[in-house]
Amino acid sequence: MKSEIIAVGSEMLTPYRQDTNSLYITEKLNEIGVLVAFKTIVGDRRKDLVRAVRTALERSDLLVMIGGLGPTEDDLTREAIADALSLTIKRDAQIVAALHARAAAWRITMPQNNLKQADLLEGATVLTNPNGSAPGQWLDVVYAGYRKLVMLLPGPPSECRPLFDAECIPRLREIIPPRHIARRTLRAAMIPESQADKLLAPIYTTYPDVETTILAHAGDIQLMLLCGKSNPEEARQRVDELAGRMEEALEDWLYSSEGETLEQIVLYYLGLRQATLAVAESCTGGLVAQRITSVPGASRSFLGGAVVYSNELKTAMAGVPADLIATHGAVSEEVAQALASGIRRRTGATIGLGITGIAGPTGGTDDKPVGLVYVAVSDAQKTDVLSRNFRGDRQRIREYASQCALDFVRRRLM
Ligand code: ATP
Ligand code: MG
Repeated sequence: MKSEIIAVGSEMLTPYRQDTNSLYITEKLNEIGVLVAFKTIVGDRRKDLVRAVRTALERSDLLVMIGGLGPTEDDLTREAIADALSLTIKRDAQIVAALHARAAAWRITMPQNNLKQADLLEGATVLTNPNGSAPGQWLDVVYAGYRKLVMLLPGPPSECRPLFDAECIPRLREIIPPRHIARRTLRAAMIPESQADKLLAPIYTTYPDVETTILAHAGDIQLMLLCGKSNPEEARQRVDELAGRMEEALEDWLYSSEGETLEQIVLYYLGLRQATLAVAESCTGGLVAQRITSVPGASRSFLGGAVVYSNELKTAMAGVPADLIATHGAVSEEVAQALASGIRRRTGATIGLGITGIAGPTGGTDDKPVGLVYVAVSDAQKTDVLSRNFRGDRQRIREYASQCALDFVRRRLM
């Protein structure tokens, strides 16, 4: 069954408002095994709405429309559905009575335009809305020879979501054959997206019943697997089988097989090794510490660290010899190593991490361009360092650097 969502409202075509209801509804549809194939946002213009509804009915079996059920001139969802499906609209006496009762309970006289909310589409079932004045409507119709389910829901999230749960989900459960969705998220660090796809495409293309989505972020790749079947074990088994083959192909690029973040995994390994970590960060300005401390329970393994931006602080707080900085420059292999071993000694941590680099946009030279980053990891046995040249703006370079640093720690712990 193909489903789609239309969010109605010109405000969601501005930079100031987002369609968040559809995320909620997508989650609830997924839970009963219905995948969403399309989402559309349409402004409050009748012609555009009619066109969007027709397009939706031509390609989908189930349509959820959100918003535009209120009393004002720009609330046109009912009219658009009537146009698209050639249905009449009748004012419903019961809804009118309910609107009057609601106004009386609020001790106000009902504005005349409120009555518009009592307009019911021919053949529609009323979805009583206990949290607002505009009821939803449910249509089970035939369009171009095919059965279509259409749900009209009010826009305010506090009305839309409970109404969908209480009135739509139970009706859908009765109509739709039960399907179960299994999901799995794998994550890999610092592997170029093209390389990941080269490794993985030959595998996931042989699982057409599992939907594979690849999301790439600075130095991070998320593989989201999703499979819907009438048999829950079968769905689970297909997802797990594909995940297993992908894990094998990704080798040690893979850091997470259940969607955990890199900082969670680093903390997990620190706990396992009964090790502690301290950081001395220059170009990342505390980003690594921020990521690690965002995980509950981080205090068991993370001691803390220092943001050592100036040369003086690199010396004062991480014990980097001033002449080392003078000789090699603050952005150098030697200083990264000294940061890592220095912060480790000063804090008594098992592992020290040092990061130094040029985040840009200024400060780069031919020798040391913008994006050059050194990361060092130090323990009692040895200090390793790596250098990378990241591309992108200042924020992206900093994100890459923090990811690269956390991954370097992970690899040491493994
Ligand atoms: P009302 O009776 O309040 O007019 P309505 O059904 O006409 O309800 P809208 O006027 O479209 O709904 O929207 C009412 C409020 O709900 C607005 O603040 C709007 O931004 C918000 N809203 C509408 N649609 C969505 C959506 N898809 N996601 C999140 N918020 C939404
Ligand atoms: Mg409205």
